[in-house]
Amino acid sequence: MSDLAVRIQQPGGPEQMQLVPVEVGEPGPGELRIRHVAVGLNYIDVYHRNGVYPLPMPAGIGMEAAGFVEAVGEGVTHLKPGDRAAYASQPPGAYCTARVMPARCVVRLPDEISFETGAGMMLKGLTAQYLLRRTLPQGGLHAGDFVLFHAAAGGVGLIACQWARLLGLRLIGTAGSDEKCQLALDAGATHVINYRREDFAARVREITEGRGVKVVYDSVGADTWAGSLDSLAPFGLMASFGNASGVVPPVALGTLAAKGSLYLTRPTLFTHLATRESTQAMADELIEVVKSGAVRIHVDQRYPLAEVARAHRDLEARSTTGSGVLLV
Ligand code: NDP
Repeated sequence: MSDLAVRIQQPGGPEQMQLVPVEVGEPGPGELRIRHVAVGLNYIDVYHRNGVYPLPMPAGIGMEAAGFVEAVGEGVTHLKPGDRAAYASQPPGAYCTARVMPARCVVRLPDEISFETGAGMMLKGLTAQYLLRRTLPQGGLHAGDFVLFHAAAGGVGLIACQWARLLGLRLIGTAGSDEKCQLALDAGATHVINYRREDFAARVREITEGRGVKVVYDSVGADTWAGSLDSLAPFGLMASFGNASGVVPPVALGTLAAKGSLYLTRPTLFTHLATRESTQAMADELIEVVKSGAVRIHVDQRYPLAEVARAHRDLEARSTTGSGVLLV
């Protein structure tokens, strides 16, 4: 039986994703071939599919998966055929049964961590990690500090709530329903706000007794931008890392002065994963917190690979929580 991969011929709705037969081939120098067991679903896959983040066409979709290494190319020494492995990587193309890819993106998955967890944790967990551990305000983050994290019951969000608890941070989480707020609270948020019902910036001022938070981690984008700036303490950091509600319009820099000498960053995980050494170091830290049980990966949605369109519809309808995986 030949291998299968999701391809899009042009940007558009979920129906653009077609599962087609592909020849996977042999890995070249520095590459490996991995056979997937589970593939992670991420909101970035929606941006790739609908053209918010343009890709050369035709394109593959998907940035994260777990499975078995089948073959390694010349010069690959950290993995061998038969190893369990997982990755977060670009360019997209993880929605498939098997693929050849750069080996430097792939890490060994310990036996204690299931493939579903591996596929649900790499891109989202490494993102939560670089945000809370590396995307810091002036003077750093310390136990007791307030941060605001939007979409706190989502894939990145539920991991961030748990990691923030581990760091002793007071994470105020927003979410789009009372049930989602409860999930975020159970995962470690110290306060939650249903931002469909409440003015979150006003609530943040109340919770922080007027001071505001040190950092806002904002992946919602257009809808939350203004309220996020209003939630920051002077010298606070706005970390805008996604756009689930739409892309943030161009920013007048003077706004940052008017709101209290704010800092602004627009980070991406892939700058942090530029080398094999940094990828391995970050993955080691993630694997450690997952193995210890301090961070649990909530795999709340499972779909057969062939039902990828339904998975995207659910993501865009805001009906998902935690991580979702495609089963191969
Ligand atoms: P999520 O599971 O968090 O899903 C997105 C969530 O965004 C929804 O569940 C919903 O939660 C919220 N949301 C708010 N407004 C909308 C809207 N109009 N349409 C759809 N969703 C909305 O996704 P992920 O965990 O995969 O990713 C979270 C975010 O982080 C994404 O924006 C993603 O692109 C970004 N990201 C950025 C990275 C980077 O390095 N820059 C890396 C990884 C992810 P609710 O109903 O609670 O509002």
